[in-house]
Amino acid sequence: MATMLINNVPLDEIHPFTPGVNEVARLAERLAPIMLVRTKAECLDLPEQIFRPYWIIPSEELKSGARLLLDTAQNAITALTLSRELSDGFQYERTIEQTAYCVCGGKVSTCPHCHGSGVIQREERILHEFPTGKDEALCDLLDEFDDDGRIIVYAGFQASVDRCVRLCAGKGWDWVRLDGRGFSSSLNLKSVDEAMECFQNRTNGKQIAWIGHPKSGGMGLTLTASQVTVYFSNSFDLEDRLQSKDRNYRIGTRGSLIIDLFQLPSDKVVTDRLDAKQRLQSMTMGQLKEAWNEVDSTIPSDIRTRLAVV
Ligand SMILES: [Zn+2]
Repeated sequence: MATMLINNVPLDEIHPFTPGVNEVARLAERLAPIMLVRTKAECLDLPEQIFRPYWIIPSEELKSGARLLLDTAQNAITALTLSRELSDGFQYERTIEQTAYCVCGGKVSTCPHCHGSGVIQREERILHEFPTGKDEALCDLLDEFDDDGRIIVYAGFQASVDRCVRLCAGKGWDWVRLDGRGFSSSLNLKSVDEAMECFQNRTNGKQIAWIGHPKSGGMGLTLTASQVTVYFSNSFDLEDRLQSKDRNYRIGTRGSLIIDLFQLPSDKVVTDRLDAKQRLQSMTMGQLKEAWNEVDSTIPSDIRTRLAVV
C-alpha cells in the first residue's frame, strides 16, 4: 500500500501509529464490580422482522398484458409503472389537454409551470379499474389478522390506496388513510396524531387498518399496535420502503411481519431491488427483462403447479 504523503512527509511521521486502547472495554471492566454494564449493541434487542411473500396466481390475461407492456415500453421505468398499475387492478389513461392557462399569465419567464409561455400542458388521468387477485389476498389477510385488530397497509399509487380503503371498509374494518392528498378516516378523528393514538391505544373497540402510501412512512409515525405490515404495492422510492417498513419495529415490540403481495414479476422485481437498497430509477430495459425472466422462472413450485392445472 502506498504511503500517504502530506507536504512530502509520510503521514506516519506526522501522526505515528500507536496502538489504541479499547476505552469501552476498559470502562466496562472498571465499572463491573459496582454496576451492570451493557453496551448499546446489547441493549438494542430489536425483535425479529420477518418477511413473508404472498404469491397470487395471475390470470392469463393479466400475464399476457404485462408481457406486452414489457415488450413495447420505451424504458424500464415506464414498463414497471404500467405493469405495477396492472397488478394493482387499474390503468390510468393519460390524455393531454393543451388549453390550460398558467396562473402567472405568462408574465414570469422563470415560472416552473409554464416557463414563461403562459400555457401549461395539463395532464388528465382517467382511471380504469378491473378486478385483481390482490383484492382477495388483502381480504384474506384481514381475516387472518382479524383477532389482532390492527394492520398496516401500504399501496404505491393513490388509486391503490383508495382501493385498499374500499376493501378494508367492505370487510367492516375502520380505516385511517394517509397519502399525498392528506389524511382521512372512517373514525371521527381530527388529526394524524389523534388517529395514531386511537390506533395504538385501541380506544375505538373495533379493527383498524392504517392505509397509506409508503411515503407517509417518513412522517415518524409509531404504529406498534400492529404486528403486520402489508405491501399491496411499493412505491419506486427506496427511502419510502426503508421508512415505512419500520413503523411498527421498535425495541420491546412483539416482532414484525412484513407481507409483500406478488402477482406479476414486476411486483417482485421492485421489492427485491428496494430491499437490496438499489434505486429503481437507474434500471435499464436489459436489466429489467433479465430480472423479470428470472422471477418468472423462480415462481414457487406450488404456484406453478396450480397454474398448470388452471
Ligand atoms: Zn406560468
